[in-house]
Amino acid sequence: MKYEQERHLVVTYLRRLLAARLTTGSGGNISVRISGTAYFAISPTGITYDVMTPKDVVVLDASGAVVAGKRIPSSEWRMHAAAYATRPDAGAVVHTHSVFATTFACLREEIPAVHYLVGFAGKRVPVAPYATYGSVELSSHAAAALAGGVNAVLLANHGLLAVGMDLNAAFGVAEEIELVARIAWQARAIGEPVVLPDDEMDVIIEKFRGYGKQETSGAASPMVVSSQEAAETPDAAEGTA
Ligand code: 13P
Ligand code: ZN
Repeated sequence: MKYEQERHLVVTYLRRLLAARLTTGSGGNISVRISGTAYFAISPTGITYDVMTPKDVVVLDASGAVVAGKRIPSSEWRMHAAAYATRPDAGAVVHTHSVFATTFACLREEIPAVHYLVGFAGKRVPVAPYATYGSVELSSHAAAALAGGVNAVLLANHGLLAVGMDLNAAFGVAEEIELVARIAWQARAIGEPVVLPDDEMDVIIEKFRGYGKQETSGAASPMVVSSQEAAETPDAAEGTA
């Protein structure tokens, strides 16, 4: 099978999305850039993650033409293509309907820096204006928000879009931003949360650049380590604030 590694990765991370309760059914979608090409592997539309196999994953070029695979690609392929075009640093894109982030998206309210972990996305998570799912308009709105340099964007009345240097990183952004959204929601339920100032978030974002880099390997980047992976490797999690 062509592009086997990337197609396999897409299915693995879709199942992780489900396990982490970041989506339900066939909601959300994932893609990964095929390095050295303008292609990306993306989940097929409307197939639930429990039955999906790597063969169902479709490889597209930047214009949406099918390079490999027989399934119809995700209805959001334009949004993924626009994310890669806007952010050359993005190696993967994760879209979820995770409930706490989506709650803010329905209020059309950004997720503020109530917790420093919002730094996985940026100083805050902005909201892209509403447009119908799968539309060119939605892809333009999402790309315009990503152009500002944030790693996550709320899609009004819809969900979350996250990017990362690879799939593990993009998944980690989606996971951490869901946590921050939940904390923001809970904090507002019993009081008025204190929002960290922009200059402190600048410090955090800078610190994150070095976070997770073990002196021996120097390989990991902050945005590469998801909390799930850190939990599986207790040594790597040591020193987490
Ligand atoms: P797909 O099944 O077409 O990927 O659609 C899911 C979704 O989240 C649309 O926004
Ligand atoms: Zn969606």
